Amino acid sequence: MFVRSRRNLAYLFTISMGSIFITFAGIAYYLVVQQQLQTFDERLYSDSKAIARTSLYKLYNKRTQFERRDNPIFDDTLPPINNDLAYVRLYKFNGELVDSTGVSGSKKLTVAPGFQTIKISRNRNGVSTTKEWFRELTSQVIQDNVLIGYVQVAVSLTPLRKNLNRARLFLTIGLPVTLGTIGITGWFLGGLAMQPTRRAYEQLQRFTADASHELRAPVAAILSNAQVALMPPQDELEQRFRLENITEIAKSMSNLINNLLFLARQDGPLDNAILKSIDLVGLLQSIAQEYQQLAVAQNLNLTSDLPQSPVSLKADPDLLKQAIVNLLSNAFKYTPEGGTVALRLLTQSHRAIIQVEDNGIGIPEEDLPHIFERFYRVDTARSRQTGGFGLGLAIAQQIVQAHRGQITTKSLLGQGSTFQIELPLK
Ligand code: ADP
Repeated sequence: MFVRSRRNLAYLFTISMGSIFITFAGIAYYLVVQQQLQTFDERLYSDSKAIARTSLYKLYNKRTQFERRDNPIFDDTLPPINNDLAYVRLYKFNGELVDSTGVSGSKKLTVAPGFQTIKISRNRNGVSTTKEWFRELTSQVIQDNVLIGYVQVAVSLTPLRKNLNRARLFLTIGLPVTLGTIGITGWFLGGLAMQPTRRAYEQLQRFTADASHELRAPVAAILSNAQVALMPPQDELEQRFRLENITEIAKSMSNLINNLLFLARQDGPLDNAILKSIDLVGLLQSIAQEYQQLAVAQNLNLTSDLPQSPVSLKADPDLLKQAIVNLLSNAFKYTPEGGTVALRLLTQSHRAIIQVEDNGIGIPEEDLPHIFERFYRVDTARSRQTGGFGLGLAIAQQIVQAHRGQITTKSLLGQGSTFQIELPLK
């Protein structure tokens, strides 16, 4: 699924970037052609003007009007064909050819004045060679408001075509290479873009698998208890025991489902608007009081070390209580009779530190990096005995992170554990 999405992303990226690239290359090519043609046209225009100026007398029937000898600008030869001009032709006002040089043309003017691009065959040493493209300008020569003739000049487009051919070749080779590079970049970027989704998907998959695994065992237990309870009653006490079992398992399942829903719903930091200003000392005192009774029942010693003055911060009191209660109930679960559980609150410049310390069974070093993962239990057998699902610490961590805080732990196997919650003070 991810490979297909990544491929689609790379494909769409290549298509969009490729179209942009092709459009730009096309526009750039068109502009270059236009600009080069304009340069040719400007040159042709100025050349034709210069030639017209020096060839006026040829276009007049009566030479007397323009005496060559008296008028040094007149020349009776057309300008020599330099590298650039392919031909120069002079026509009388009636279209008859007067003089020409370079590539020979028709004796009569056949085209209207203006620019045109034409294809003609150039004669070299009397042999007609392959056809060539020319840019030609035919302009009128007007003297004293009277049309006296036409000048036709042309320049070969071969150098321009060579340049353009080179540009086209460059584009033809460059285009697939660029598209390939864009494709590879798209594939790479697609991979990067998919990473968070992939991680979230894998996490979700693992979570769903773990959740269904956890739910399968109690459902099987309910089923077997119900089947026994449905059998013809022999012993009423036995039947009652089965029904009580079903109730207990259903309660635990409901607990698990609530925890799962919490984990699924709450994600990211809490909105500041829903946080209340609370006194952390008061909150911890009430929790310690609630757990005092349980401590006596479990033969544990619960101590609390809290500051005298209130410590206020912005929090969701119910959620924060849930996180602390999760840590305390773990300490109670994993501390044998006669042990001690301590609840502490310290403040540092801009943070409050809540510690839950016990001298219970501790956590092996290799398990410490994983204990905040969902459904992670150090030893399934011992957790099963205590009825844990491996979600308590994941929930506590999620709550603390939602308050922009962090939760850490230190533990030594057989000696006890300390869980610490750090919260920013307002
Ligand atoms: P559980 O519901 O199984 O207790 P938690 O997420 O609360 O799940 O804890 C994960 C695991 O971390 C537990 O299974 C337990 O093995 C270990 N653990 C948590 N707190 C303590 C503690 N105070 N002392 C020893 N082990 C602990």
